[in-house]
Amino acid sequence: MAAVRIDLHVHSNASDGTDAPAEVIGRAAAAGLDVVALTDHDTQAGIAEGRAALPPGLTLVPGMELSCQLDGRSVHLLAYLFDPEDPALRAETAQIRDDRTYRAKAMVDRMRELGADVTWEQVSAIADGAVVGRPHLARALAAAGAVAAPADAFTADWIGEGGRAFVDRYAPGLARAVGLVRAAGGVPVLAHPRSPGYEIPDEVIVGLADAGLCGIEVFHSDHDQSQRLRLTQLAKSLNLVITGGSDDHGSYLPGRPLPEGSDGGLGAETTPPAEYERLLALTEFK
Ligand code: AMP
Ligand code: FE
Ligand code: FE
Ligand code: ZN
Repeated sequence: MAAVRIDLHVHSNASDGTDAPAEVIGRAAAAGLDVVALTDHDTQAGIAEGRAALPPGLTLVPGMELSCQLDGRSVHLLAYLFDPEDPALRAETAQIRDDRTYRAKAMVDRMRELGADVTWEQVSAIADGAVVGRPHLARALAAAGAVAAPADAFTADWIGEGGRAFVDRYAPGLARAVGLVRAAGGVPVLAHPRSPGYEIPDEVIVGLADAGLCGIEVFHSDHDQSQRLRLTQLAKSLNLVITGGSDDHGSYLPGRPLPEGSDGGLGAETTPPAEYERLLALTEFK
């Protein structure tokens, strides 16, 4: 029998992915996945469409990738299987999304001052109702010819963290976000804690485990072999679930080239089935 294949980190055009949730589900089935989690940034707006498109044999895990901060730096927390109606978590994500819009407008102003021919109307059309993020701004910069490709916009010259057109935005601290997800019955898992720029030190992870963190995303394309080993040890010592996922954004690549001959990153990294079972057992929302 073929092994069960579980990808717990995927984006749609409800946030900064390029494909509609139904298309993501179609690609997940085509990639031979058994379980896929939709984890858009700060929204669950794509879940209903994804669910409606599910073919037999494919399971959708409802999730979200929450924007958080650590000492003023942007970091990410995956959240699974929480109550979508939880008032506190809803209020928090609404605040994050509102500030994303405000911030994107401010970044458009900076980009214009720097000579790029972009407008908020253009960015808004690219985002098309999605939770707006830097990838949408990057696409506008590329369309204006300011950079060759969207991924080239993430530098000090443009919209890389701290760059000339970068503007900060609101995000909750990690411990607070972990608490909100747990209070909503969900399972919080640290996203790619060794991604360049998004690093979360070991001692912080230890503290978060005390605060209710349930897992660590170990299998992520940004992590090299030694980082995977170290994070696996750490997860085991703290009794945390070990997850993995592709962080697929469709045809938009956040700084990561696709493997040769691959039409999408879905299933490029996966979660061990036994760890997935542990994660399912941790939800308190039924
Ligand atoms: P934001 O949350 O609006 O600050 O945008 C962050 C998003 O930008 C991430 O979720 C990635 O999808 C994308 N991103 C971050 N860093 C890079 C990079 N170096 N190259 C391309 N995309 C990136
Ligand atoms: Fe993203
Ligand atoms: Fe992320
Ligand atoms: Zn992601």
